[in-house]
Amino acid sequence: MTARADAIAAIAAHKVASTQNYLDHAGQAIYGQYVFGEDAQREYLAKPIFRKLRRTIEGHEPFDPAIVDAVAHGVKEWAMAKGATHYTHWFVPMTGSTAEKHDSFLNPQGEARTMAEFSGKNLVQGEPDASSFPSGGIRATFEARGYTAWDVTSPIFLQVEPNGVTLTIPTAYVSYTGEALDHKIPLLRSQEALGKQALRILRWFGNTSATRVFTNIGPEQEYFLVDRRLAEQRPDLLLCGRTLFGAPSPKGQELEDQYFGSIRERILAFMMDLDRELWRLGIPAKTRHNEVAPAQFEMAPVYEATSVGSDHNMLVMGTMRRLAPQHGLALLMHEKPFAGINGSGKHNNWSMGTNEGENLLDPGNDPHANAQFLAFLMAVIRAVNVHGDLLRAAIADAGNDHRLGANEAPPAIMSIFLGSQLEDVVAQLGKGAAKASKKGGDVELGVTSLPVLSRDATDRNRTSPFAFTGNKFEFRAVGSSAPIYWPQTVLNTAVADSLAQLADALEKVKPGDMGGLTKVLSAIVKENRQVLFEGNGYSEEWHAEAARRGLPNNKTTVDALPALSTAKAKKLFSSFGVLSERELEARAEINWERYVKVQNIEANTALDIARSMVLPAVARYLGQLGAAGGSKGIAAVAGRVAGLADDLVAAIDKLEKAQATAHKAAGVHAEARAFKEKVIPAQNALREVVDTLETLVADDLWPMPKYREILFQY
Ligand code: ADP
Ligand code: MG
Repeated sequence: MTARADAIAAIAAHKVASTQNYLDHAGQAIYGQYVFGEDAQREYLAKPIFRKLRRTIEGHEPFDPAIVDAVAHGVKEWAMAKGATHYTHWFVPMTGSTAEKHDSFLNPQGEARTMAEFSGKNLVQGEPDASSFPSGGIRATFEARGYTAWDVTSPIFLQVEPNGVTLTIPTAYVSYTGEALDHKIPLLRSQEALGKQALRILRWFGNTSATRVFTNIGPEQEYFLVDRRLAEQRPDLLLCGRTLFGAPSPKGQELEDQYFGSIRERILAFMMDLDRELWRLGIPAKTRHNEVAPAQFEMAPVYEATSVGSDHNMLVMGTMRRLAPQHGLALLMHEKPFAGINGSGKHNNWSMGTNEGENLLDPGNDPHANAQFLAFLMAVIRAVNVHGDLLRAAIADAGNDHRLGANEAPPAIMSIFLGSQLEDVVAQLGKGAAKASKKGGDVELGVTSLPVLSRDATDRNRTSPFAFTGNKFEFRAVGSSAPIYWPQTVLNTAVADSLAQLADALEKVKPGDMGGLTKVLSAIVKENRQVLFEGNGYSEEWHAEAARRGLPNNKTTVDALPALSTAKAKKLFSSFGVLSERELEARAEINWERYVKVQNIEANTALDIARSMVLPAVARYLGQLGAAGGSKGIAAVAGRVAGLADDLVAAIDKLEKAQATAHKAAGVHAEARAFKEKVIPAQNALREVVDTLETLVADDLWPMPKYREILFQY
């Protein structure tokens, strides 16, 4: 038996991985068990310390260094009571993954004796080596110093694994020279920038009581789960996270029978386990379901403040990665693991709210009469229009190129879907004051036993990269594997810019002068309405129409990244104190480098598979066909396979040459362009030959699990 056949037999014999009784662990009892949250803080900290810490966490008071030793002591007692032996600062460097270095609490006291120690300094500041993380030129190997700083707003938590418990402190990460080297710092800065400008608008509208405006994030997370025994036989899945080869399965997603389908027991066991772990971490996992593609799924938490929600999304991805193997599954977080069927994204549901609980994007029943809502809405519309190029750049990477700009949703053109009600209100506003709002209504089902449903005033649109959905926007173009800090940083900063401009204009108008307000908002509609699009974002017509409107359509990372280096971008990020010019440039460089590295790894892997796995299988098959002899039909097949074998060798050769030429390019930007223009097409051409061979070569000789197996055997 081949390894493939072995694995499939094993899967068939053992479909269910669950050994847990989940009913023993009701959500409420375990929720937040691993978090140093408010209850644990109250229990382990003296009252005045507790109160002071809460004031900082809730954003009312700056961080007070005088309490750190007391807090550290409480944190240590709590963690050790739960079995922790080590602590770590946890941060998100620009690798896009999380980073941690563990230290034990151990502090030896002479011979064979030790004490547990964890000081205030240990809590608030760490010192990882800054030269081994990407810095885009900010840090060289000989200038290694960098610091991590405790982010009080993100809860301290425990990583509890079968082999031990680690106290984990979310931190921000800077270089010795003070430049942000992580994803967290710019996000926090962008929050403050947006909050400050939003308050100016609220004050104009007479709100004197709100003291803070922040943003909320609810990231829906798509992912694939496949059987680990099959995935491990594919070097491309292991090294690249996606299949570089694979003929289409005879059955794909055309029957539309996967989306919201009943969840297989083995997958549900994973999801149960995931939810429980997330609840313990205080992550409000809420929704789970089958997604459109075979073997594709989604989870969504309840929304949270953006910086906490962004950390939590990292923990969601990390927890999935950790748990999947325990269920004999492999997690595929890539944007496009399989050609020809749906890829995965993240839908970042985003809104702005005040510390008093007001959602600034809630239109209410009569949006036309809700002037404050319209002001915030117009600020977002302008932000996406003026800085669409930056939003596109913020979600650009090699993986997401397979979705955006390819024949899959959403397109690379940044546009906004408002829905018929708001579209109409905004159109009225473009001409003067908005006078009326279209209404929803009832949906009558014609069956007396069924309830009458209330119809929303607005339909939904799945093809828009940036859609208004009720009382929030949904940024739907983010990649499934991407940390969400950076896209949200760019969005916050772009909106801060619009709010600032709007506030400048409004502060010249007398508060309460609705005519003056209408004039200001009307002008924004007129200047920015080209970004509004209600139709099918996948259609050819939209691409042509968007070009007529002058909207950027940057199909690949290579087309998108230059937006980060424009004078407009530098001014935007530096004027709001989100990123200095140097920090922005570093980020752009890291993105360019990453693109080249990812494409290069893919080319290496494709060549390796083609040369050492596919070609030998083809040769073996040709041998068998030759030995079979006699039949004209078999001779014809042998002739065809032999022809494809020649094509295969030629395609390998071409890809090798294209890759070698790309490496000679002057500088990383030119190299990236060479990968896009020469290497990727050569790799696609190689794939075409290999995929054709897959349909011809004897199944038992084919060296890798096929789509029909990976996608349906789990
Ligand atoms: P969908 O129907 O789009 O698949 P889901 O229920 O999967 O919706 O996810 C919607 C997400 O939007 C959830 O994370 C939810 O908590 C979040 N959300 C709801 N209201 C807001 C809001 N005001 N701001 C930000 N996120 C929100
Ligand atoms: Mg959803």
